[in-house]
Amino acid sequence: MSVTETSQSIEEQFQNNAGIEVDSDEVEQRVSTLVHEYMVPEDEARRSVVTHLLDEHDIERDAFYAQSGSGNDLVACGDIDKPELWIDVRAEVVQLWEPKSDSIAQVGLLADESGTVKFVSWATSDLPELEEGETYALENVVTDEYDGRYSVKLNKTTEIEHLDEEIDTDNDDYGSESVTSEGALVAIRPGSGLIKRCTRDDCTRVLNDGRCSEHGEVEGEFDMRIKGVLDDGQEAEPVIFDLEATEDITGWSLEKATDAAMDVLDTSVVADEFRSMLVGRYYEIEGPEIGEYHLVNECEEIGEDVAFEADAAHMLNEHFGAEMA
Ligand SMILES: [Zn+2]
Repeated sequence: MSVTETSQSIEEQFQNNAGIEVDSDEVEQRVSTLVHEYMVPEDEARRSVVTHLLDEHDIERDAFYAQSGSGNDLVACGDIDKPELWIDVRAEVVQLWEPKSDSIAQVGLLADESGTVKFVSWATSDLPELEEGETYALENVVTDEYDGRYSVKLNKTTEIEHLDEEIDTDNDDYGSESVTSEGALVAIRPGSGLIKRCTRDDCTRVLNDGRCSEHGEVEGEFDMRIKGVLDDGQEAEPVIFDLEATEDITGWSLEKATDAAMDVLDTSVVADEFRSMLVGRYYEIEGPEIGEYHLVNECEEIGEDVAFEADAAHMLNEHFGAEMA
């Protein structure tokens, strides 16, 4: 958030919660001084200015915050750093994933200006469905932590309000922090190899039998990717190689892949080639984690002598078994 945005949000908060028009120049001046001259983090500057204004206008603190509806703090996605807190979130649903369990109604990724956070909505909570690309005010969600990653859980008491405003989620940038993983590439998933994408508008959806789920039958254009599973012996991580990373790890150009597929009139030959080429080898990958996927920007083969805790052979068998089934 910029100083101006922080100031505006303070003004809105006083307008909404206390019906008071605060002096916007003064608010911005105070925030700006704290942030620029005293190097105070913006959320702290915000708190300080709010407290000052509460005193100045003689407003009861509790009553003021209770007006926020839930009484919870509104926390930015990127600022969530403690489990088991009841908070409010305003965010856009930037991704929805397929729930892996019947007990989960929805699982996906929320984003706001500050970053992203995974959310889970339980089937038993019986909440309205959130839609991808839409922005919501979510009141009364609970934070959770797993392996150092935070999420929010929607629950029976969660209030969902659809917002017409757009939030600048800076989508190209979210999860842009580059992370390194190493492990054995234990599986290459369906949807890998030579694929076709829809070229209508900016669609880029992957075609299924020449059909786009949005635009129906389209010509499309070829692309390559690998959806794989990297296993370090403790955790299996879904990874995605885009065209460049796929060319890099396989040594196959898009042209070579297209030619190979044309030869036998079957695109699946490419994924099969990749599978026999890569599965069972050890790699170090680097790239951003977006949602449940680790995207590969850099990839390097590493020796098998790297110490993995699990019995690699056993692990591979397990995964091959699962993949065959
Ligand atoms: Zn399409």
